[in-house]
Amino acid sequence: PASIIDGRKISAAVREQISKDTADFVAATGVTPHLAAVLVGDDPASQVYVRNKERACEKCGLKSTLHRLPSETTQQQLAELVQQLNADESVHGILVQLPLPEHLDATQILDAIIPAKDVDGFHPENVGLMSQGRPRFLPCTPHGVMKMLEHEGIKTSGRHAVVIGRSDIVGKPMAALLVQKGADATVTICHSRTSDISAIARQADILVAAVGIPEFVKGDMIKPGAVVIDVGINRVDDKLVGDVDYSAACEVASAITPVPGGVGPMTIAMLLQNTLHAAKHQASAL
Ligand code: NAD
Repeated sequence: PASIIDGRKISAAVREQISKDTADFVAATGVTPHLAAVLVGDDPASQVYVRNKERACEKCGLKSTLHRLPSETTQQQLAELVQQLNADESVHGILVQLPLPEHLDATQILDAIIPAKDVDGFHPENVGLMSQGRPRFLPCTPHGVMKMLEHEGIKTSGRHAVVIGRSDIVGKPMAALLVQKGADATVTICHSRTSDISAIARQADILVAAVGIPEFVKGDMIKPGAVVIDVGINRVDDKLVGDVDYSAACEVASAITPVPGGVGPMTIAMLLQNTLHAAKHQASAL
């Protein structure tokens, strides 16, 4: 049976280090790293994510402020809030929780966040820097996956990594980090138009599922001994289920991340790390 990669435990270790580094930074500068989160509307999952992020900030000694806007907020009102947070020197990181309500243009809003405060790493300037291998902020979920692999001593160099999913938030940056010098994996990206995903997935030494379909990856899509990273978070009958058929995968894989308790907690730890990093940069620029 596969060994279980415990995201809660790894994330706790990362957060402990962040707490120490934050305390040192506050002692040295008198500045408390500050994350401003923006939540538009009342999507239940988004509310939970934002609350977890706030709580994690608090526990690690970072300040967080939540800006709640009603679902009927206009593009201009949201853009104005972003401008206000951009200009506020006490704010180091800005996070706009996705998805935004349908009538809002998320790309335009994310582009408006100044790159130095873009702790989600979604601004095109930060995406470009990442893809050139000189990152400012790495996107939290793929960065969290890389941290887990590193923590578990899972080698990526020369191995075949298959990423299922090509979103700008998970799939694409995940592939970019795995192929980067230093990680040195050979990467294949699969998506909704890929033919014979099973055959490709079966070649993976490291299989990352970021599809958003419950139990999309079946046991027979996994090479015996592969490492399986399940990014998916799907709500099925009031339970959280990943993108991988977990019990079947446990019989085939050498290691696997559970849902919940796998990638999710790592995402939050990396957000805190980015916020501290943002505060350090802004303090040194003064
Ligand atoms: P998305 O919907 O933006 O992208 C899904 C991707 O899967 C697309 O690129 C699409 O091409 C691909 N896909 C869809 N159907 C497919 C099919 N039948 N065959 C092959 N590929 C297919 O989703 P996302 O934002 O990338 O998120 C993916 C999953 O990860 C979701 O379940 C989401 O909730 C979860 N997620 C988890 C975290 C975390 O912290 N653990 C963070 C972000 C997203």
